[in-house]
Amino acid sequence: MRALACGGTVRALAVRSTHVARTLADQHEASPLGAIALSRVGTSALLMGGMLKGHEQVGIEFKGDGPLGAVYAVANAAGDVRVSIDAPDVDLPRRADGRWPLSLAFGAGRVTVTRSLGLKEPYVGVVPMMAGEVAEDLAHYFLMSEQKPTAFGVSEVLGPDGIRVAGGFLIQGLPGAEEAVLEALEARITALPPLSQLYAEGMDPEGILARVFDELVVLERCPVQFRCHCERARFESVLVGLGVEELRSMAEERESTEITCHFCNTRYFFRSEELLALADNA
Ligand SMILES: [Zn+2]
Repeated sequence: MRALACGGTVRALAVRSTHVARTLADQHEASPLGAIALSRVGTSALLMGGMLKGHEQVGIEFKGDGPLGAVYAVANAAGDVRVSIDAPDVDLPRRADGRWPLSLAFGAGRVTVTRSLGLKEPYVGVVPMMAGEVAEDLAHYFLMSEQKPTAFGVSEVLGPDGIRVAGGFLIQGLPGAEEAVLEALEARITALPPLSQLYAEGMDPEGILARVFDELVVLERCPVQFRCHCERARFESVLVGLGVEELRSMAEERESTEITCHFCNTRYFFRSEELLALADNA
């Protein structure tokens, strides 16, 4: 859900992404930690995608020196998201308080946000990873890279069968927002129970925002879903990009070359005749 509040000076988005998070975990055969990373980065991308229009899209990459490697999500204004992950099966012991050590799994690194707004060059912002818990890092990104005060929350409830519920919210001061209004909102957000608890109790995104705002103008509600936009033609151009000589030697070495999409694990096979034809046409 996308909404405006405080006389149009604050934007608010909320999403329940349980189905998407489960799909991502299944697709990547993720461990509990891998599922949390996929859920949080994917849910964050959906929220930031909700700030876009038309064919614009946003990419968020969390890349650290920990065992998880990189997690990269791409989302658009239509509520589509896809996520790749280096090590979906990463496994670390839980903390003493029962929480999964996501920040340890990420390690030290950086957060890169790429927004393709239909201009020649995408807008790219990079900040060091601070908390490694995803939401805090993205709030930090908005403040440092875009000078926008932002409250960001993404979380999930994990059961024995994986993700039970997942969701998030994004509340951002727009130009003209009064300092006192933002401070009052911050106090309310800080006082909220964990989002996952609210979702587990059956509250919907609108209900959560209603606890923060006295009045909301709802702009749009739309479904969100996992969707990969990969197609054979895109991988053909990747192959062509390797160069004619490389294509010819690949065609000589093996009868069939396999390329796997990192987002959805679809496998594409190219027979050596097809590689040669690509080389001839390149
Ligand atoms: Zn794909």
